[in-house]
Amino acid sequence: MDNLSNSVRYIKGVGPKKSGHLKRLGIKTIKDLFYYFPREYEDRSNYTTLREAAVGEKASLEVEILAGPQIIKPRRNLSILKIPFRDENGHGYLVWFNQDYHKDKLIIGESYRVNGKINRMGMEYQVMNPAYERVGGEDRLGRIIPIYGLTQGLSNNELSKIISSSIKAYIDLVDEVLPNELRRKYRLIGIKEALKNIHFPSSKEALHQARRRLIFEELLILQLGLLLMKTKTQLEEEGIEFPACSDLEGFIGGLPFSLTGAQKRVLSEIEEDMGKAKQMNRLVQGDVGSGKTIIAAASIFRAVRGGYQAAMMAPTEILARQHYESFLSLFGRYNIRCELLVGSLSQKNKESILDDLREGKIDIVVGTHALIQDRVEFYNLGFVVTDEQHRFGVKQRELFSMKGKRPDILVMTATPIPRTLALILYGDLDISTIDELPPGRKEIETYAVNPSMVDRVNAFIDKQISEGRQAYIVSPLIEESESLDLKSVEELYDNYKNKDFKNHRVGLLHGKMKASEKDEIMEAFKNHELDILISTTVIEVGVDVPNANIMVIYDAERFGLAQLHQLRGRVGRGDYQSYCILINNSRSKIAMERMRIMQSSTDGFVISEKDLELRGPGEFFGTRQHGLPDLKIANLFRDLNILKVAQAEAQLIIDNNPRLDGQDYEGLAKRLDELFREVEIIN
Ligand code: ADP
Ligand code: MG
Repeated sequence: MDNLSNSVRYIKGVGPKKSGHLKRLGIKTIKDLFYYFPREYEDRSNYTTLREAAVGEKASLEVEILAGPQIIKPRRNLSILKIPFRDENGHGYLVWFNQDYHKDKLIIGESYRVNGKINRMGMEYQVMNPAYERVGGEDRLGRIIPIYGLTQGLSNNELSKIISSSIKAYIDLVDEVLPNELRRKYRLIGIKEALKNIHFPSSKEALHQARRRLIFEELLILQLGLLLMKTKTQLEEEGIEFPACSDLEGFIGGLPFSLTGAQKRVLSEIEEDMGKAKQMNRLVQGDVGSGKTIIAAASIFRAVRGGYQAAMMAPTEILARQHYESFLSLFGRYNIRCELLVGSLSQKNKESILDDLREGKIDIVVGTHALIQDRVEFYNLGFVVTDEQHRFGVKQRELFSMKGKRPDILVMTATPIPRTLALILYGDLDISTIDELPPGRKEIETYAVNPSMVDRVNAFIDKQISEGRQAYIVSPLIEESESLDLKSVEELYDNYKNKDFKNHRVGLLHGKMKASEKDEIMEAFKNHELDILISTTVIEVGVDVPNANIMVIYDAERFGLAQLHQLRGRVGRGDYQSYCILINNSRSKIAMERMRIMQSSTDGFVISEKDLELRGPGEFFGTRQHGLPDLKIANLFRDLNILKVAQAEAQLIIDNNPRLDGQDYEGLAKRLDELFREVEIIN
């Protein structure tokens, strides 16, 4: 039976070889072919005349062949074929290099449509290596031509033909997924027309309408899928109703500072979730240094006082240990047992922690990925926190929460993004935002300099250290790399320790060191037994040493904006004026732009928006990693207006018809089911 999920082999002219090529493009079925959209288009639909055509650009002309071919061989390996023509108001030549076989294909006195680059040699006009077709035949040339992403062995022409014949044979099998109601409201064309025109547009306007419809469809489905997942977890998933915790006030009152307004608001949002018999799925986004850890600690406190175990996962051992230590001091005066679970523990230690977790003798465990390994079992895990969630995939978050029986879930990120996009990326989560820094923080001063300034930078560091401060110096590499311009950390370390800063205490930290060594160094830096920490980006996230007030980043052009902002966030955590110095070797436009942005803003929201703009959303999100279906045509940044409408409509549908009942919604329900079946984000 004919079916859109049939293999492309069903299409005339597609044998084992071509289907192999198609597979490399991710095309297996007829439907895949329909949804393999052109990368771009070449517009040949505007005919012009030789006199009006722009030299150096492609143009479409209608010409009459005046005489037979001339072949010139100016040197070995080069053969030039010229055929004279005239058009409405001029004369010229069609010219091919090393393609003599065209010489007998064009008939004197006949008219042709041609398309090629216009060239001028003295007084002579030429159309270079033109495509051509006889006037009177099917007009394929005078169109907007699709240009596809290709793979070796498959030409654009071949792929166009395969898609064209599959459309001819099978387009009637495609079902409409958009409800008529919506199509009428936004004047969206039908799916068959849209698919035909996205591949072979009959005009610019037809292409525009096809894109508009397909983008809307894609974004609506994405947003609906996310909202449905969220309502599903909210409706169906019974969660834990944590008892109110009268000690919480005392716990917060015992802190050395009072919470900011934003912290209070976010904590009360979490508290409200915790008090409900539904599973919490909440994201806390807040800039670096906004004080997310204490929010996590306070909610964990309530969970534990309510009789449950809690766990917090961090992306690096350094960060996990730091959280562990602050929890020890926060919870020290309560009868709460907190342990650290990381890969580097001794086997014996690990076993005993695993046993105690299983038996419920441990209340809080802080750790790395080690927490989500199979062997880790809990007695009654009720609350899970993922710190710096952008470092984890959805799968890991999911595995983590599966360690408990529908625990409340809190994820924290220091890469805040605008709300429209947060709705997509975190569509399955409720969102809280800490949009305020603790009081008294001085704005970090940021300077981008070139490498010739290094001596002055060092003198500055020297002075700050003499005043009792500490400095981080970050370099991207561990070993000497192929590119000698890049400072390796080890080389930097040698230099600094033995020359520039031989009067100060200098430490080295990098990812390849043993965990115990890393801990020792970090501990020493924290206790001010070291003045300078030379490091790779292992300190990028989370690390909190308030006395450190200088961050120097070598080869700053190698880092993205988000990463630079994170690194800079290691300073400015105490009462001292802090400085970030970016040593930039590049004059490339994008590097200069990044340096400019870093110098002009310390606001994570602003920076992530700029980042998005510079890198484009694909790279920014890596949607695949987040478990979302790939976007084939929509672009979250460029298509922001359609995105907003689609989000609003998706919300309306969920509010009015959450089960997608009724014939008008059948197609939509089916498509959502297909797309999101394997992508259960949190459940
Ligand atoms: P991040 O949001 O980057 O994870 P942290 O939780 O590490 O930030 O907090 C940064 C620093 O600010 C820590 O030293 C923390 O103790 C301190 N801090 C947090 N909240 C406040 C507050 N309300 N007032 C003063 N300092 C605070
Ligand atoms: Mg943090």
